[in-house]
Amino acid sequence: MRNYELLPFNFITISNHEVLINELGDFIITPIGTARSIVDHTISDGDLYKSLVANLFITEEVLPSLLDIYASRLRTKKGFLDDKTSLHIFVLTLRCNQNCTYCQATSQEELSKHCSMSIEDMTASVQMMFQSPSPHLTMEFQGGEPSLEIDLIRHGIETAEEINKVENRKLTYVLCTNCRTLSDELLELCKQHSILISTSLDGPSYIHNKNRGREDSYEKTIAGINKARHVLGNDAISALMTTSELALDYPKEIVDEYVKDGFNGIFLRALNPYGLAAQNDDWKNYNQRFVEFYKTALDYIIELNMQGLFFREEYASIILRKMLTPYTTGFVDLQSPAGTINSVIVYNYDGYVYASDESRMLAEIRDFSFRLGKVTDRYGDVFCGSVARKMGKVWANEVLAGCSSCPIKTYCGADPVRHHSTQGDMYGFRPTSMVCEKNKAIIEHLLSLIVERGCEVLPIFRRWVK
Ligand code: SF4
Repeated sequence: MRNYELLPFNFITISNHEVLINELGDFIITPIGTARSIVDHTISDGDLYKSLVANLFITEEVLPSLLDIYASRLRTKKGFLDDKTSLHIFVLTLRCNQNCTYCQATSQEELSKHCSMSIEDMTASVQMMFQSPSPHLTMEFQGGEPSLEIDLIRHGIETAEEINKVENRKLTYVLCTNCRTLSDELLELCKQHSILISTSLDGPSYIHNKNRGREDSYEKTIAGINKARHVLGNDAISALMTTSELALDYPKEIVDEYVKDGFNGIFLRALNPYGLAAQNDDWKNYNQRFVEFYKTALDYIIELNMQGLFFREEYASIILRKMLTPYTTGFVDLQSPAGTINSVIVYNYDGYVYASDESRMLAEIRDFSFRLGKVTDRYGDVFCGSVARKMGKVWANEVLAGCSSCPIKTYCGADPVRHHSTQGDMYGFRPTSMVCEKNKAIIEHLLSLIVERGCEVLPIFRRWVK
């Protein structure tokens, strides 16, 4: 019987191995039965024992000298909390010039009135943004189609830059646009203020046009991407895809489209149950098909990398960064405490502040559960008000039933808004939670790739997280 103490860790059985995972996200691949031996204090001397001590799974001292290092590494992993809210989303309008079949934002006709932010609310929103203590502030312009509101974008940026003469924060601007109508005036504004462009490309024309509800959508998006690259440079534009029902049948074709268009990565993004997308009547089936789609596409991407191409899958890269590096990620959907309010906030066209992008989408179906207050309210009343405090009780998976004992929780995150919208309860019930099912399947698939094909995939994965 060996004399040592156990430090917090859990384990999961994958591909006939036990993967031991500690609270820092470090993992060790061991033979079946290792967890039992550790608990029974029958683990034998050798490399595994030394590795367990060195990686803080067990300790030979009651108060290990490495405890301060453990604490410091845990602090680094939760580093996204130090800065407080850094991503500030400005929903300028619901007006749009496309008819996406799965629109999650409840967009309105291009000529609609009364669904754009007022200049006064934009000013108040920017002022509120600067009350966040974060040294880095990202202003992300969303819609509808925000490029239809160029005057609001200009006013928002000019107001921010004026205030920043005193505040001296690091400002980043992102414009989420479908690239349909990137005017010279807009691109000039982007150039002047180094605005990054995030666009949507769902795959080849037969998928993109069908999803986007216009026959010329693909052609216009590709032309817009090329025009933006020409004016702003290749690195200033990135693209996101949304996996519609149609897209589920074309994983390789979608990856090939991104490679052909000169992108060095793709974010394989599932549909979320908001707006028109919520009308899908079989989410369980969609979720399962999405996981299969994801695995096929990921395997194909790995194959392309093995042939010498550098091309990464962004969702996997975020999870792998948690597995393979000591660092935190800024991705709000996989955080605990949740990214809502802690990392992201939304100033909506209606003059109200919402806890997240999904929260404002719920408001369009008259569910105001995550409305935090008005842009003219006091910062403390909005960011620390009754809604924020209610959410604070259920936004850490370390304390949620199901998650707290989950071996892969350090790679996952809490999502009270999604659980509210799909299960009618912010706390959520993990055995029937679709977000849990999807995250679990993807995280376990990544671990199984590492266990079964580590020599092949780890060099690729390490390049993705650099
Ligand atoms: S949501 Fe599911 S996969 Fe994620 S930590 Fe909770 S139980 Fe684990």
